[in-house]
Amino acid sequence: MGTTLREIIFNIGGGIKDNKKFKAVQIGGPSGGCLTEEHLDMALDFDSLTDAGAMIGSGGMVIMDEDTCMVEVARFFMNFTQNESCGKCVPCREGTKIMLSILEKIVSGKGTVEDLDLLEELSDTITNTALCGLGKTAANPVVSSLKYFRDEYLTHVVDKKCPTKTCQGLKVIEISPELCKGCSKCSRICPVGAISGKIKEPYIIDQSKCIKCGACIESCAFTAIKEA
Ligand code: SF4
Ligand code: SF4
Ligand code: SF4
Repeated sequence: MGTTLREIIFNIGGGIKDNKKFKAVQIGGPSGGCLTEEHLDMALDFDSLTDAGAMIGSGGMVIMDEDTCMVEVARFFMNFTQNESCGKCVPCREGTKIMLSILEKIVSGKGTVEDLDLLEELSDTITNTALCGLGKTAANPVVSSLKYFRDEYLTHVVDKKCPTKTCQGLKVIEISPELCKGCSKCSRICPVGAISGKIKEPYIIDQSKCIKCGACIESCAFTAIKEA
């Protein structure tokens, strides 16, 4: 108690693996909140964590680096909490299910700005009306990540991109017409027949068919296929 997050993470914990940039720390178990760089010098205690939107909870910390997608983190923890919901009360039983489905929609590239408002509304309702602590704290990762990483959510729902290239549904695999030699190897490897073209001319990927498996990237000897 009283030790700063910076000291715990960087001095005691040894810092971020591979010298990557610190992005967030999720404190308190699956129902804990995600805090950011601005909280690193905060002295840890029950009140400071609650004020910042996290909690001591189980005492666990998950430290995340620059490669972590905060929307996917929120989805991951909501999935856990939803599975743990006993089903006795409606707000938690149904609410966490709807929140999870919205987060799944966003990471698959089908989210909208209205979904963010709905997530906030549901968070508020579940927190205030669920019967026990599980439901009352279930929305914490969503609320805190929406508060501190809203831009990242907006990039998912408006620009249809995942800034860390984590979300499979938002990946765009493209062939460079300058580098493609038209050898056809990728089109023979693609499991869904999404690549077409004529020999010795640049091939193209039909984005509506592509399932983003990445097999074609590996197959091209001319490194003409990349994730955009
Ligand atoms: S809030 Fe508690 S009682 Fe209600 S469904 Fe969730 S786990 Fe069960
Ligand atoms: S494998 Fe590479 S070079 Fe050959 S057609 Fe595909 S993108 Fe073009
Ligand atoms: S990523 Fe997979 S599905 Fe998409 S074009 Fe390449 S091989 Fe086909």
